Amino acid sequence: MKNNPLLSNAIFPLFEHIETRHLIPALEYTLSKNRACIDILCKAPDTPNWGNFVEPLEDLSEKIEHLWSPVSHINAVKDSDALRTEVEKALPLLSAYSTEMGQNSALYEKFKELASAAEFSNLTQAQRTTIENELRDFELSGVALNKKNKSRYKTINAELSKLSLQYEQNVLDATQGWTLHITGQKQLAGLPEQIVDAARQCAEEAELDGWRFTLQAPSYIPFLSYANSRELRREMYEAYATRASDQGPDAGTWDNSEIMRNIVRLRQEKAALLGLSSYAEYSLKTKMAESVETVEAFLLNLANRSKKAALEEWQTLKQFARNLDGIENLQAWDTAYYSEKLKQKIFSFSDEELRPYFPLNTVLDGLFEVVNRVFGVRVQAAKRPEVWHEDVQFFEIRDAENKRRGWFYLDLYAREHKRGGAWMADCSNRRKTADTLQDPIAFMTCNFAKPVGDQAALLRHDDVITLFHEFGHGLHHMLTQVDVSSVAGISGVPWDAVELPSQFLENWCWQREALDFISGHVDTGAALPDALLKKILAAKNFQAAMQMLRQIEFSLFDLRLHNNPGKGTSIQAVLEAVRDEIAVVQPPEFNRFAHGFSHIFAGGYAAGYYSYKWAEVLSADAFSRFEDEGIFNADTGRDFLQHILEKGGSESPMISSDRFRGHKPDIEPLLRHSGLI
Ligand SMILES: [Zn+2]
Repeated sequence: MKNNPLLSNAIFPLFEHIETRHLIPALEYTLSKNRACIDILCKAPDTPNWGNFVEPLEDLSEKIEHLWSPVSHINAVKDSDALRTEVEKALPLLSAYSTEMGQNSALYEKFKELASAAEFSNLTQAQRTTIENELRDFELSGVALNKKNKSRYKTINAELSKLSLQYEQNVLDATQGWTLHITGQKQLAGLPEQIVDAARQCAEEAELDGWRFTLQAPSYIPFLSYANSRELRREMYEAYATRASDQGPDAGTWDNSEIMRNIVRLRQEKAALLGLSSYAEYSLKTKMAESVETVEAFLLNLANRSKKAALEEWQTLKQFARNLDGIENLQAWDTAYYSEKLKQKIFSFSDEELRPYFPLNTVLDGLFEVVNRVFGVRVQAAKRPEVWHEDVQFFEIRDAENKRRGWFYLDLYAREHKRGGAWMADCSNRRKTADTLQDPIAFMTCNFAKPVGDQAALLRHDDVITLFHEFGHGLHHMLTQVDVSSVAGISGVPWDAVELPSQFLENWCWQREALDFISGHVDTGAALPDALLKKILAAKNFQAAMQMLRQIEFSLFDLRLHNNPGKGTSIQAVLEAVRDEIAVVQPPEFNRFAHGFSHIFAGGYAAGYYSYKWAEVLSADAFSRFEDEGIFNADTGRDFLQHILEKGGSESPMISSDRFRGHKPDIEPLLRHSGLI
């Protein structure tokens, strides 16, 4: 075992040495050692306290985290068949272990003893929260179930983690399994040069003539927004909207239908075992929102306040397409295209026109400058440890006292075998004990179009926002001052509050003072001109109501799907009923949105997708204090740093928000920022 790089004590994962074959032996070794240690802890005759009981348990969790986080990261950014097979073998082992821990009555009893001991009130806030979370999680893991139900519970969990993985792999395979190959120049009409160049390169990589477009976001989104050919847009849209389903060009090949039904059924069964009425109720046990009714009312309230404006936006778009091209029946594959044209007409600029102002390096430096001015922290390049791909960069963050607060890997470009989208993941958490200090490390991942040849990578304004968003998560993870790893950074933060720092940081992408240095023309270095800024500000809330409704549609679908015990309604029927109630734009019959809705079927957002909107209320409300006091006001920044970012999951977000803002979350700033009041 000594030479297994997954078991090294190195601070940074040994990416250049980790091989697929290392995973299972390292995991089995760690789990079996952990089990032995837990056995000793359970049998210890001493009264449990933080030092003799919780801290050793945390050591054990850290050991698993230490080997699993690099593996799950490689699985996301450097997918291979061999690794998939090993991860599939590993997941049941992990799942069995975690269910076993969650159902360990001896551990549960020790935590109860600790929670009711006199010592409890002398513990730090973070320590008390950790113990309270543990007790809650034990109960949600079925610690109180009888033997038969405990075992059923365990089977369900193992089954669910397998199903989620299969779901995600189907989505990935379906996304990669279809491409649009074009050989005639005429069919490219309307597409910006940069997109055409990238498609050319993509064709060359596949040793094809002409141009090749894929279903990955950097190819798919511009294609739908700019390609003049309605027929080809329809073809692309259909392939995308039917991924991993029973419809479309690859119907049945990677069909998720059965997997989804099983996931929903098993989740419901799991909630029922715990005596809860639905999986939605189970999900909300660990969230900031109080109840299913609270969330439903919250979403419907936002929907009501947006519906009228959304209908107007939709009418405007239909009228525009009719006038421009005589389109009588505006379809889903037309909306991005005519929206872009309408936006250009009203605001006379295109997203592509902004790209030259956002060279990647300028944007990155600008981002680092923003966090320096707001939070007094410095980001600087650091000596790169082992990485999984040559493009990966490495940085450290230092605070005003020049104390290192954390590190992060930055992996910016889209490539094959890398999962789409953008995300921040933790490589390791902050942890401080009597004899160690572990600084947090983050994985920051984006999927920007890689520059062609030696050109600079130029971002869309949306990409800039994505980068700021993920960096907000990164700051939450890296700037924490909590010493207990299970509630440090984003750990232990309820899902519906976790998007607060990320959505909050996006605000700087819209401010003149910040754009002065976030932007810089690739040829002249000039900042984004006032005239263009005025236009993007005016365009910011373009179709904001329609977008709001779309998010509410996804959120309500997710909530109701998981609050629908035994009704026997099909998943597609739940989705369509929500659309009938909420949506102003009805997608075509063949649309199988749910089959690619990884957030709720493969990610952690089940009965929690509403969290984005919920946290948006929190973040808009928080930013409104900066609007009042100055966006680079260092005092306001320090308050946000201390009350929100540094606190991590150590206290309720209701309390920390209140402390920063001075009142309960207010919905008005979000509506105001979206131009809806
Ligand atoms: Zn986020």
